[in-house]
Amino acid sequence: MKGYRKKLDIAVIGAGVLGLAATEALARRGVYAMCFDGRTPGQGQSGGRTRTFRHRHDDPDVVRMAADSLALWRAWEQRSGRTLIGGEGAVYSGMTEADAAGLLTHGVPHEWVDGDKAATAFGPLAPLSAPLLVDPTAGAIRTRTTIEVLRAWTSDRIANQDVHGVTVPEDGDGVELHTEDAIYRARHVLICAGTETPRLAAGVGIDIPLDQALHTRPHYRVRDRFLDSPLPCWVDRAGEFGETVYGSPIGTSGDFVVGLIGQGVDVDMNDGLPVGTEMEAHVRRLSTYVEKALPGLVPEPVGLRVCVMTKLPGGSDSLGVWTAPGVTAVTGHNLFKMAPLLGELLADSALGKGLPAEVRRVTEAGMASV
Ligand SMILES: Cc1cc2nc3c(=O)[nH]c(=O)nc-3n(C[C@H](O)[C@H](O)[C@H](O)COP(=O)(O)OP(=O)(O)OC[C@H]3O[C@@H](n4cnc5c(N)ncnc54)[C@H](O)[C@@H]3O)c2cc1C
Repeated sequence: MKGYRKKLDIAVIGAGVLGLAATEALARRGVYAMCFDGRTPGQGQSGGRTRTFRHRHDDPDVVRMAADSLALWRAWEQRSGRTLIGGEGAVYSGMTEADAAGLLTHGVPHEWVDGDKAATAFGPLAPLSAPLLVDPTAGAIRTRTTIEVLRAWTSDRIANQDVHGVTVPEDGDGVELHTEDAIYRARHVLICAGTETPRLAAGVGIDIPLDQALHTRPHYRVRDRFLDSPLPCWVDRAGEFGETVYGSPIGTSGDFVVGLIGQGVDVDMNDGLPVGTEMEAHVRRLSTYVEKALPGLVPEPVGLRVCVMTKLPGGSDSLGVWTAPGVTAVTGHNLFKMAPLLGELLADSALGKGLPAEVRRVTEAGMASV
């Protein structure tokens, strides 16, 4: 082999939460995989301080995947000795019994609360007319701690290099990765490159229809008198306060992030409109919402995070895992919570095990427009 041509068993592209989880799952199986990322691990879509772990999804198979993932989160917590998901729970408004069907099917604990009980489920919330659905085993993911733990477990396997392209060589033996200083030939490649996954996967004939848009998440300070009251993750689908919104505490910091949910609430990066103006408008809408719906928060943002959101045609809870000979690619949205489970599935796929039927079905569903 020429000096710039190198061999690898398994390559992972991307050191976000998914690439790190897959690298860790392979390491635990005694398999060496090199994980390529030209940037600081965990600074792509996995950046920021909090994400929601919740069980409820429209698709019952995704509810089951979330429940399986939680068991694996607990194993990560046990191994690391760190809290990775807080015990805050998640509270939803605007849900019906049908929306909770997946929770019932998969035995996920949940309850309906109203009146005084609703007030004690989420201290800073204004009264709402309909009952709230509570998922007590949900919580806020400690994203930075998670990345820190995964980096510590995989530090000897991370190569600080971007992969420019992935191709099938003419002789069909393995898969080639083109990096800054070498052409690697790997037996299997896991593409976990976030926003770049569709471009890299296209090189091996995998077509992923992924939309990208900018999403604005300001955060607000919890008023002192509410600091000791329950502060769960929040999904407001009722719209009684004029918006549909999600929210999440930032650990125990006393800050709470909120973001808009629904159609047209992300900023299209290609529509030629001034991005800043749209983002400011979203912050104003969220501050008005906080004033009405969350009187326990000070309605003046104390910080902001703007991130790229990736979405499959099936909507914001859709995800997909695609395979081609020697390659597995993963993408979707709201995948932080699924990281331990997807890490296992990706590792299995790299070692020649097929994908579970429900993951293939969920992938197909994610490709269908809603
Ligand atoms: C605003 C917002 C709110 C969210 N809320 C939630 C939530 O509440 N719950 C939840 O579960 N999830 C949530 N998510 C989604 C979740 O954060 C992402 O799905 C998850 O972090 C994706 O991880 P990843 O590893 O696939 O991608 P990333 O973290 O983006 O990692 C991809 C990595 O690939 C690297 N890379 C890219 N191109 C190349 C290349 N050519 N060569 C080498 N490396 C490359 C990048 O540098 C990056 O580090 C949210 C996301 C956003 C943006």
